[in-house]
Amino acid sequence: MTTVTLIPGDGIGPEITEAVKAIFTAAQVPITWEEENAGQTTFDSMGELIPQSLIDSLERNRIALKGPITTPVGKGFKSINVQLRQKFDLYSNVRPAKTTAGVKTRFENVNLVLFRENTEGLYAGLEMYDERLGISDSVARVTVVGCHKIVRAAFAYADKNKLKVTVAHKANILKSAGRLMLEAAADVSKEFPNVVWDDKIIDNMCMQLVSKPEQFEVVVTTNLFGDILSDLCAGLVGGLGVVSGANVGDDMAIFEAVHGSAPDIAGQGLANPTAMLRSGIMMLQHMGLQKEADRIEDALEKTLLDKNCCTRDLGGTASTSEFAQHIISNL
Ligand code: NAD
Repeated sequence: MTTVTLIPGDGIGPEITEAVKAIFTAAQVPITWEEENAGQTTFDSMGELIPQSLIDSLERNRIALKGPITTPVGKGFKSINVQLRQKFDLYSNVRPAKTTAGVKTRFENVNLVLFRENTEGLYAGLEMYDERLGISDSVARVTVVGCHKIVRAAFAYADKNKLKVTVAHKANILKSAGRLMLEAAADVSKEFPNVVWDDKIIDNMCMQLVSKPEQFEVVVTTNLFGDILSDLCAGLVGGLGVVSGANVGDDMAIFEAVHGSAPDIAGQGLANPTAMLRSGIMMLQHMGLQKEADRIEDALEKTLLDKNCCTRDLGGTASTSEFAQHIISNL
């Protein structure tokens, strides 16, 4: 049995976490959950946004499954997600986007993996506001080391899976920060002579993604562009309810869905647990539990074929827990 830290999170987090726990139990996955929380929920109950007990649990277990955490807009505390990614140097945010039989989409053959730099750039939230002058500066600090790390992760994945890499950037305008990513790709590509790669300016990349998404296999980009592109890619393959992700460092990984805490549907049993479950499946693969991962994935894919078994976002009428029960029946 391996112990895994489980962070239910805010909003729909606890509902989708319960669904995943039930499915993992039914599939007899050999892990033990160590439940710890963070965010608004722990602030309200304990006065702490990131309790020390969560940090201790992550340091001990080095692996976690995490629900979404609410971040106040335009005020309040710094994102808990950003803090955890930076604290544990989880520099690689891996987000697959693949069309699935049964899930209605505009395109049929999307199958790409986005590698988003996860600790630097504009998204790191390094900001200064001069109230007297009414000027706000947001710093897009990107490092040579950071660019090399994320680009190497993307190229290594592409090399292993015989895929093409596209580097998305804005080096025509951000001549310094954008250039570092391109230079990192040129450097790292020498370590992977079999990997074919090209680059695209981010605005063109968006247009290409919504016109001919099947041309992309591995996409690597900076933090904020990656944040935006991953929601765009979610839209290509069925929406935020179905896309998973992993925050990966050299010796720790936290798996979480791409979506947020969805306050508009929280507590109503409407949340689709697929994204969280797929993040859990990625976690099992990462842990070498391939047999369990395959079994749960097969049951999920079978369930997705029947719209009546699915939640409202996929055209069905099932609740979160009913969807989970259908997956369990298909195990
Ligand atoms: P969101 O991803 O929470 O929701 C966007 C839309 O997608 C909503 O209409 C929501 O109902 C729908 N949706 C999301 N997940 C779904 C699911 N599993 N099933 C069905 N529908 C789903 O984005 P938002 O509303 O912009 O953000 C809400 C909060 O989440 C904010 O505080 C934001 O900071 C936070 N957030 C957290 C994370 C994270 O913890 N990793 C990621 C993104 C946003």
